[in-house]
Amino acid sequence: MKKRIRVVQQILQEKGLYDGAIDGIAGPITMRALASIDEVNSSDPKTRQITTFVQVEANKRGIDAGPVDGLWGPQTNAAFEELVYRIENGEPTPEWRPDEIEIQNPNQWPVQRTPEFREFYGERGTRQVMLDFPYPMRLSWDLRIQCRRTQCHENVYDSLGRVLQKVKEIYGENSIRELHLDQFGGCLNERPIRGGSAWSMHSWGIALDFDHRRNALHWGRDRAAFAHPDYNDWWKCWEEEGWISLGRKRNFDWMHVQAARLPE
Ligand SMILES: [Zn+2]
Repeated sequence: MKKRIRVVQQILQEKGLYDGAIDGIAGPITMRALASIDEVNSSDPKTRQITTFVQVEANKRGIDAGPVDGLWGPQTNAAFEELVYRIENGEPTPEWRPDEIEIQNPNQWPVQRTPEFREFYGERGTRQVMLDFPYPMRLSWDLRIQCRRTQCHENVYDSLGRVLQKVKEIYGENSIRELHLDQFGGCLNERPIRGGSAWSMHSWGIALDFDHRRNALHWGRDRAAFAHPDYNDWWKCWEEEGWISLGRKRNFDWMHVQAARLPE
């Protein structure tokens, strides 16, 4: 928290709105400066005001912090780290290009949270079908529980089947198990994104999670197992069908893959 406040103080100072100490303490001078920012609501709790300011400043610099909701989720966290990097280095983090892969969109997946998306997938939790997995999965939350099938949206059914079939052909069941590609964390789940207010792509049954223990939500490629080259083929299987990995694209939530594009 202190670091966040220090960064906020620093930006406010650059704007000429703050002349107090850069001490990481949200005292009255800091809060008064924040109150002069249009998007910040000074009746919100302090942490929410600080988060809102970080989101606004990141978005202004073209760093995608997601919706400005004052809630600190993984996307805000990633945007904050980028913001800090830019302040410290005076330039953006060099772009990360895993294998220079162009992600095709053969199934015309829509961009998330757009009218086209609503048109394509409809209401949350509707038009669900059952897909039998081509290899046995285990529930990543409780590995004793076998999982032979999942619910998913009818529009992703064929593609998802092809992806998993290909994974099976490329890796084989032994490697699948060794690499935890059978540790399934769920697909359909109607809930807001963790630490945010927008609905998760899981709410439509078009996103899947795998091996969440070794790909924790806030971990970047330095820690996430799925960032390792052993998984290049795994990602190729998904990306050939246009599925988007938040890890590969945004460097957080490496457990997650979805049949929706991200806004550019
Ligand atoms: Zn997910």
